[in-house]
Amino acid sequence: MNSVAMSPSDSPSSTAALLATAQQVFVPVYQPRALVLDHGRGARLWDRDGREYIDFAAGIAVCSLGHADPELVAALHAQAQKLWHTSNVFHNAPAIELAAALVAASGFAQRVFLCNSGAEANEAAIKLARRWATQQGRAPERRTMLSFQGSFHGRTLATVTATAQPKYQQGFEPLPAGFRYCAFNDLDAVATALADGSVCAVLVEPVQGEGGVMPAAPGFLAGLRALCDRHDALLICDEIQCGMGRTGTLFAHAQDGVVPDVVTLAKALGAGFPIGAMLAGPRVAEVLQYGAHGSTFGGNPLAAAVAGVALRRLSAPQLLAAVQRHGATLRRGLEALAVETGVIASVRGRGLMLGAVLAEAHRGQAGAILDHAHRAGLLLLQAGADVLRIVPPLVLDEADIEQGLARLAQALRTYRAAA
Ligand SMILES: *Cc1c(COP(=O)(O)O)cnc(C)c1O
Repeated sequence: MNSVAMSPSDSPSSTAALLATAQQVFVPVYQPRALVLDHGRGARLWDRDGREYIDFAAGIAVCSLGHADPELVAALHAQAQKLWHTSNVFHNAPAIELAAALVAASGFAQRVFLCNSGAEANEAAIKLARRWATQQGRAPERRTMLSFQGSFHGRTLATVTATAQPKYQQGFEPLPAGFRYCAFNDLDAVATALADGSVCAVLVEPVQGEGGVMPAAPGFLAGLRALCDRHDALLICDEIQCGMGRTGTLFAHAQDGVVPDVVTLAKALGAGFPIGAMLAGPRVAEVLQYGAHGSTFGGNPLAAAVAGVALRRLSAPQLLAAVQRHGATLRRGLEALAVETGVIASVRGRGLMLGAVLAEAHRGQAGAILDHAHRAGLLLLQAGADVLRIVPPLVLDEADIEQGLARLAQALRTYRAAA
């Protein structure tokens, strides 16, 4: 069996053989669709059998500059021929330049910690918050993190504990202590939780991703900022999914007019190359000192070279304006499909981070609809069983949107016929 995976051939049976091998060799924590992607360009992907797909998933909001972008490929290629890894015992120029560019682009951060994934960025933020509280002389029971129902912050033990969704936590007990939860968009509940002085930091996604594409209500983040200031807590924005231009501004929190103490980034930061970052504002920039935290691969020159280009491209006003324009077009198209098919009840989100909430009669069917979508040549995501999640490359064009919507309409038709 393994020999099949190790020597892929172009014979018609090879995709089936690969899928069979995948079933056997991976720890089965995922259930990928029954296709094997081979290459891409822009917002289009092709599988090994030559079938074309429009990409409304972008590798879970990662490939924001699409696939095989020539400038990203050139940056990776150039760095690959020079130096792959230094560790943090030695400097490399791409990492320094990336950190400086992040500080400049953020408008609030003074220092950056580079790592390799979203969970690691949040892990760094959690450790920073606790160290900060310790330096304030606060006892361990007053170093609690507050996060929100429906949130998603990662899969390490600390970040899965911050992720206030039982389905991700069950069976992994004992979970780390010092985490509390509140209802999202409920400032009264947050005020109550902060009143006893036990909370040292509030961790929030400006737009919840995995939890159903749920934006913070107007005024919620500003209210959190005020409550954090009143009760001496840090405000940490997890922009791992909603950041890097996804919602039409480089940082999502900018639309809420707040200045966070810490922001975490990953997903689109490397445009497909693994990298994460924690940005620390002036209040906390000096908290983590020599030896306090680390990562062997953090600041890897290949990742940093690609992310430097991605950051510059994703900061461009023209691109951000296109995100807002295309987001509005896509939203109108989804709303039309809602009326036409009755499968979708409402559409929510910001920019090109959209959720189509399934109508009552179709609750729980997001996975089934995804199967119909990929058969219709459209790659989509779900956010829970009741929401279709649309997070395409930010560089998609009008034709991609039009054809993507046509393929979604087709998928909803075959789904209804099969139901
Ligand atoms: C994906 C995601 C994470 C976790 O990132 P990984 O790279 O999978 O560890 C954390 N927070 C949010 C909001 C995410 O969407």
